[in-house]
Amino acid sequence: MKSLIEQLYREGTLPPGDLYTLLSKCTADDLAFINEKAREVTFRHFGNRIFIRGLIEVGNCCHNDCLYCGIRRSNRNIERYRLSQETILACCREGYELGFRTFVLQGGEDTRLTDERAESLISAIRNSWPDTAITLSLGERPTGSYERFFRAGANRYLLRHETHNAAHYARLHPAGMSLANRLRCLNDLKRIGFQTGTGIMVGSPGQTLEHLVEDILFIGEFRPQMIGIGPFLPHHDTPFAACPPGNMEQTLLLLSIFRLMHPRALIPSTTALATLAPDGRERGILAGANVVMPNLSPSGERSKYALYDNKASMGAEAAEGLALLDQRLKSIGYAIDKSRGDYK
Ligand code: SAH
Repeated sequence: MKSLIEQLYREGTLPPGDLYTLLSKCTADDLAFINEKAREVTFRHFGNRIFIRGLIEVGNCCHNDCLYCGIRRSNRNIERYRLSQETILACCREGYELGFRTFVLQGGEDTRLTDERAESLISAIRNSWPDTAITLSLGERPTGSYERFFRAGANRYLLRHETHNAAHYARLHPAGMSLANRLRCLNDLKRIGFQTGTGIMVGSPGQTLEHLVEDILFIGEFRPQMIGIGPFLPHHDTPFAACPPGNMEQTLLLLSIFRLMHPRALIPSTTALATLAPDGRERGILAGANVVMPNLSPSGERSKYALYDNKASMGAEAAEGLALLDQRLKSIGYAIDKSRGDYK
């Protein structure tokens, strides 16, 4: 196993059979070894610096019905909200003062967030804070919408493919959604010029090791600038309420595999990982992640953006908790980097 890990470290890739072996037979010792290798690669490119992104959850209204997601259309038990442009700009202002130079606008797939409204919001942020990066995470849209968002000044787009296996994709999503359309979106985003992020949930219902190998191969070919992976966590008002959460060790293994295959990628230690265990964020960084995305949403709305149960949004997960985050990063030998942190 160590020699497979050495090979991945040296060559940045492994044949599918070896990836399968790595996923199926990795012991605690092997995990510590690959995490260390991944850290070494991260350090070579980024030093001990961790980029921060201010996450603004612009609304939880969603016409989609993804089976894993707590804000899916069929969930009648949550209070829906939609931030106004003024509120979002106020979040950006506060974030800018705290030192954030990337804003991530994430939300449900809201038909009322028309192209015109999104464009107006993006232009307003672009004009007010020209030195910031604007990242969108607004789900699937027609090609023309992505083009408009890019022209209005957005720079980056996060859209996880969730799984590269069409049958598994169909198990996680409602009829009408397809892997083919998700890939169409990702190809559009990249061609238009967005720094593009994709990724998966680890341990989503029905996921097999074969699926994970397919995901690794897809990401290896697509070469996204950003790779988002976190454990699946159940939400009590979804069809997956009784499904077990994703596994910490498997998530950390995948983080390290992605780091070794994509040395310069921007890889967040996700909120889901921080929710799975109190030291999840730190363990993600020690496995090769180099980004954290503290929550800049108005504190009154944070609990309504419940993608899964017990989602962390306070303390070191909160934008106003930057000092605490810095302290926790320092305790493992890292420090916050307040620059824009573009892919280079
Ligand atoms: N609607 C947009 C953005 C919001 S969801 C979109 O779908 O892209 C952002 C990410 O949260 C999703 O890509 C998914 O991978 C993750 N997510 C959703 N529900 C989750 C759950 N129950 N557990 C863990 N991650 C989840």
